[in-house]
Amino acid sequence: MLLLEAATLRYVDVNQAAIDVYGYTREEFLTKGPYDLREAGHIGDLAEALSKFDRDASNTIDTVHLRADGSRLDVHLTVVTVEHEDDRVYIVTVQDMTERNETLARALRSEALLAHDTLHDRLTGLPNRTLLNERLTAAVERARERNHMTAVLFIDIDEFKTVNDTMGHSAGDALLKEIARRLRSNARQVDCLARMGGDEFIAVLGDITNVDHAAEIARELARVTAEPIRIDDGEINATCSIGIAMFPRDGDDAETLIRNADTAMYQAKRAGRATACFFTPAMHHAAAQRLRLQGRLQKALEEDAFELVYQPIYEMDGALRSSEALIRWPQSDGTVVQPNSFISYAEESGLIVPMGAWVLRSACVQSAKWSRATRPLRVSVNVSGKQLADPSFVRTVREALRDAKLAPALLELELTESVMTVNIERTAAVVRELHDLGVRIAIDDFGTGYNSLATLRSYVVDTLKLDRCFVVDIAKSQVDQAIAAAVIAAAHGLGAKVIAEGVETAAQSAILRALKCDAVQGFLFARPMSAEQFGALLRAESSVPVYA
Ligand code: C2E
Ligand code: MG
Ligand code: MG
Repeated sequence: MLLLEAATLRYVDVNQAAIDVYGYTREEFLTKGPYDLREAGHIGDLAEALSKFDRDASNTIDTVHLRADGSRLDVHLTVVTVEHEDDRVYIVTVQDMTERNETLARALRSEALLAHDTLHDRLTGLPNRTLLNERLTAAVERARERNHMTAVLFIDIDEFKTVNDTMGHSAGDALLKEIARRLRSNARQVDCLARMGGDEFIAVLGDITNVDHAAEIARELARVTAEPIRIDDGEINATCSIGIAMFPRDGDDAETLIRNADTAMYQAKRAGRATACFFTPAMHHAAAQRLRLQGRLQKALEEDAFELVYQPIYEMDGALRSSEALIRWPQSDGTVVQPNSFISYAEESGLIVPMGAWVLRSACVQSAKWSRATRPLRVSVNVSGKQLADPSFVRTVREALRDAKLAPALLELELTESVMTVNIERTAAVVRELHDLGVRIAIDDFGTGYNSLATLRSYVVDTLKLDRCFVVDIAKSQVDQAIAAAVIAAAHGLGAKVIAEGVETAAQSAILRALKCDAVQGFLFARPMSAEQFGALLRAESSVPVYA
């Protein structure tokens, strides 16, 4: 800590920690001011920062200082201004970020190499969904400024499944590649061509001034894809169905435009395939269906019809100290609806907020019960962006812990990166508040966003959950091994643990162990199970500890 007098810009006091870190004696410090500590390249920003302090009571600066021996020190300064009679003093708290920043920089470098992989589809080399979202959002912004239109073309290959099933996957892959090549090389006016996965592509046409123009380009794309394609010794006549949605007429943002183009594409399929269809509001019966589902979800919540299942998370020594709570929606006919088919609707309607609160309360009560009966058992709960943005979320967490009498450290909240990259300042503040309660914070599906490691700069994180997509091929793919290694190194550098998701084979598990991953979760060890089954597993385990 340094005390800086505003009038003279000289340090008037320093504590022992500062003396230790900087290597100056107290006397040397007292002859210095902030300009003397700064590295030459970082002097200009100081005046600007100080001028801001005249208005603000507390602020932070990230800069580079020099120690007495000339070595660099990355510092995070928190400055509080104190007025005393006519004097003003700055209390400067110094946090040494050197090591943390070096770890991040190393990790970010390896991430940059991999960025292309995360933003592009491996088979066709086209931008993937993530990059498309970014490009489309930018195109919409541009069109908005210029008062133009943007067209979103949702392109789906007709009968692709038949080709795949009858001619084999390599023929299917060859077909996808050839269609991608044709779409790319024949579409001069296409701003962005992306693969959505499977046999679906999206073309974005920016700066369109009339709707006929979009129709014309769609016809052209349909024509080039319909020409016979030679694969192996045979010839395929592939056609495409295309759905078109226009900004601003059919939607105001990337998500709505893609969804409406998708709806129009289904209409094109129904109209006999090999054709293009514009979205019309009449196609909205899909939307009506969505509303009905949201109504049923609401009712299910009121009737307490959801259930939680628990999937064990094993540490590398075989210890079972935590589980992930996952929601299920059992139906009267005995089937069970999985979260992937209803969470997004609950999010859309806002119902995720009370639903998520129910999950939190139930998981805390269950974990407290198990912890009392056997040994401390942590529970991980998934939290969606809408919940985190809800002003009462921190209170909901606090009350769930209190009512269940669960120690905060036994609750881990799983947030996805996509949640952590919007509105970072507010989100980081909420996350810090949760962390201050003693609750642990995990990043779920880590690595699927495109600035994953950069996210870590803004957050206190206890756990990274390495996404299943990096685990699937880890035994075969050097790239995936390198990604896992980089994530694990970065996490450890920041004092966080890594849980690998979706571990299904012993080979994957062995590699993760060699890479010093901390814990694993996956079908190889256990599937998500009912609370009764999990309780039985715990009771069996507390008498026979498992060592891998
Ligand atoms: P997640 O949080 O990434 O959860 C892990 C998912 O991977 C679970 O799917 C789990 O059953 C599945 N899984 C675990 N091990 C394996 C494996 O070895 N192989 C494969 N193929 N899959 C494995 P589940 O239960 O269907 O949940 C899907 C997603 O739904 C979750 O992904 C989470 O994002 C969301 N979700 C589930 N419950 C809740 C909830 O209570 N609230 C919120 N907001 N989201 C939830
Ligand atoms: Mg999760
Ligand atoms: Mg996950």
